[in-house]
Amino acid sequence: MAECYDIVIVGAGPVGLMLSACLLRLGPYKIKHIDQRPGPTETGRASGIQGRTLDVLQNLDLKRAIMSYNPGLIYEVAFWDVSKDGPGIRRTGMAKSYPDYIDTRHPFSTIIHQGRIEKLFLDDLRERGIAIERTWTIAGFRRNPCGEDPGHPLVVDLVSIDGTKKSTIRTKYLFGADGARSRVRDLLRVPMLSKDPTIHVWSVIDGVVKSDFPDIQVHVLLGSVEAYHTHSPKAGQGMTYGFLDAHNLAWNLHRVEAGFLRRSLLKTYEGERKLVAAKLIEFDATYANLFSSHQPVSGNSFAPNSEFVQAFKQNSLLTSGYGVEYPVNSLTWPSTTSTNTTALRPGRSLPTATVTRVIDAHPVYLEQEIPFNGSYRIYIFAGNPVTTSQALFYFADHLQAKSSIFSPIPAKGH
Ligand SMILES: Cc1cc2nc3c(=O)[nH]c(=O)nc-3n(C[C@H](O)[C@H](O)[C@H](O)COP(=O)(O)OP(=O)(O)OC[C@H]3O[C@@H](n4cnc5c(N)ncnc54)[C@H](O)[C@@H]3O)c2cc1C
Repeated sequence: MAECYDIVIVGAGPVGLMLSACLLRLGPYKIKHIDQRPGPTETGRASGIQGRTLDVLQNLDLKRAIMSYNPGLIYEVAFWDVSKDGPGIRRTGMAKSYPDYIDTRHPFSTIIHQGRIEKLFLDDLRERGIAIERTWTIAGFRRNPCGEDPGHPLVVDLVSIDGTKKSTIRTKYLFGADGARSRVRDLLRVPMLSKDPTIHVWSVIDGVVKSDFPDIQVHVLLGSVEAYHTHSPKAGQGMTYGFLDAHNLAWNLHRVEAGFLRRSLLKTYEGERKLVAAKLIEFDATYANLFSSHQPVSGNSFAPNSEFVQAFKQNSLLTSGYGVEYPVNSLTWPSTTSTNTTALRPGRSLPTATVTRVIDAHPVYLEQEIPFNGSYRIYIFAGNPVTTSQALFYFADHLQAKSSIFSPIPAKGH
């Protein structure tokens, strides 16, 4: 009989690696993870991780590995444009990467090459007993026609890239993390939709720049002439948002497998993340158009009040990742209409909170003390125990009651 897995992941770029890394922290999942390339990304591609994603990577205990590379931390953006008064270019403004109203411990973009990120994930997976199987691809998959072994309903055919080896396995889930030209998507006949057929010409240089340009250490947006460094065709957001997609999906898959969720509720993943993707694509189209269509020497296309600079600032909640919010669904509560940035909102990160740890009186960042391990945590700010202890006892009784979500749920197959 074919070997059985919980999940087959096709593609070991950032998204596939994140899914494996999350799942291995949540349970003893049996993962088959393949990639067609002989190794991780060597040149080009992503180089920026935004603050919200860094928060998540911190809770996975991967931030330390990122910081060990001593990455660039971009706290500021400089706007430059053609000088109206003479030859050359001049700085027209500066802005914080993340405006002050964003509640974060990481108010910067972290600049680290995609290949290094992939490598640190590969090291993490290896420590947890998973090695990516290279150079393999997926030939096809089908539902088990005879209905045998309903726990592993998918039959997946794999083939080595040189065509000399073949393997057929069974799985509960199949995940396509095989990038923009996804073979898994083709097999599923899911069409690739694009927002805007407008073609803008971009180029990305991967190299070492020697220059006396004064803003070489910050993110520079240069109008009217070629940009030294600008956002990528997708505003440099694909990897950073892809990590959050995989994180959400891993959490939901685990809740199904652990018996907390009905499988049908997995569709909440699509409702939540598709909305985020749609907003990002919308922003990208606007941003790319603004970037590419401004008129040379029209004077200060990047002036502080220009449409471009305003769009850049207004969208910083989205580009930092902190503006993500999920719609109401079977699992999420409606957001309060309050503009209070410390309010809890589905999809957003936990507000920052510095608290004193009772056991050793250390001040700690509460939101960073939550390992991503599948457990639910309840933090109670109980004030004076003399006056609140009775309420705490009632609360504890409620948590243990059969009607509570925390009462033991018999898990199917667990
Ligand atoms: C020039 C450039 C700059 C960018 N800059 C940024 C940035 O600064 N920040 C940011 O967040 N994003 C950036 N991005 C986007 C980012 O690179 C992508 O969003 C990210 O790589 C997507 O990750 P992924 O894992 O989905 O796909 P990929 O990184 O494309 O990985 C897919 C993996 O699947 C494998 N694969 C493909 N097909 C098969 C198959 N049939 N069988 C088996 N394996 C397969 C590939 O070998 C690869 O390892 C940039 C992109 C480009 C092109």
